[in-house]
Amino acid sequence: MISIPKINQVKIKNVDTSLSTKGGRVLEVSCGSHHFLTPTRPLSSTEIGAKSYLGYRGELKSDIAAIAVDFSGKRKELFLKNNGALNRSEKLLQSYSDATFNLPSMPVIQIDPFKADEKSHFKLAFEVERSIEGVDILSMPGVIGDIESFDGLVRDWCDSSEDNGFGSAVQLSLTEDVTSFSEKLDLLAEYSSSGSLQVLNIQYASPSKYRQQLATLWGKREKIHAIINCIGMTKSKYESTPGLVTDEETILLQNGFDMITKKKHSVSQGFVKYLAMQPKITSMQDIDDYRIARHSASVSIKKDLWNRMRHPPECSCSVCRGQERDKLIDRFGYLDNGDISKSGLRYYSELHDHQSDMQELEVFRRYTVSDGAEEYDRRVSENLSELRDLSKV
Ligand SMILES: [Zn+2]
Repeated sequence: MISIPKINQVKIKNVDTSLSTKGGRVLEVSCGSHHFLTPTRPLSSTEIGAKSYLGYRGELKSDIAAIAVDFSGKRKELFLKNNGALNRSEKLLQSYSDATFNLPSMPVIQIDPFKADEKSHFKLAFEVERSIEGVDILSMPGVIGDIESFDGLVRDWCDSSEDNGFGSAVQLSLTEDVTSFSEKLDLLAEYSSSGSLQVLNIQYASPSKYRQQLATLWGKREKIHAIINCIGMTKSKYESTPGLVTDEETILLQNGFDMITKKKHSVSQGFVKYLAMQPKITSMQDIDDYRIARHSASVSIKKDLWNRMRHPPECSCSVCRGQERDKLIDRFGYLDNGDISKSGLRYYSELHDHQSDMQELEVFRRYTVSDGAEEYDRRVSENLSELRDLSKV
């Protein structure tokens, strides 16, 4: 019998107290006989999918897994009323869980919040997650309701999870109004102190539009003894320099988040069939779009710029292994028979994004432990200006 790694304690180890009103935190998460530190980057459905597409056999270093299925927007109806769609998602979650059997893992059902009195919907989510073998933490979907009804649901979810041998995660959204967001955070801080809550999932929204909610979170970062995970993060579009897209990860970490899970996008079966019928690709111009993350400069390099750069920065992560761009294109841009791979480089960029982030977060933690948020910002700006020089082609 395989023993599932369980999170048994989340301890706040360091909080950066820089006066620049920034400063992340470091948690020590005990998990059976070992522990890991945050911020960390969870292994998600994105990397599991990329690894399997590429047949990549290298190991992806990770501390925890957040495995998502997408029932967002109009797909909510499928979750509630379509047995076929639900069964397919359960199978998908099970395959993700099998791929992360050595990590503590948590399913995340991306779905719009349920009203507090729609108890049968919460029951359905609970049963779906509980049925997946190998998961450690059950995540409650978001709730529309006042603080009392929210409290009632959280208590029930945490007690029921614990009775069944699971940890709990609860969900809030950055778009919630500030007063209610703040009250709910206080309530969840109490649950986290008593050990009944291990993860707080906060639904992503653009940090520049929800500054008050972020400041509220920042203000409470010293009393929430649970991993604060940003869920459903979407790709940023802002280019500070043409071809360099600003990453919001550092901003989120400096406001108290401990990890970030990107949004899982679902692809319809019809679209998969359509793709399979397309003629084979004969030019590198027609491959999927991708971006090469440069976490130490808090940006991603868009495909066209990366291809044009005379000296693209090299990366020492476990996927790139310090290889030059052309060597990486040889490794991931072609299929075994020599044909151009439509999606190979996109999937490679996802694995590199994850592994190079794991490296950078180690640096971020070092600066946090020494109260160095400002120095960290300086380091990011220096790396960014170096990258801007390299991108002048
Ligand atoms: Zn890399």
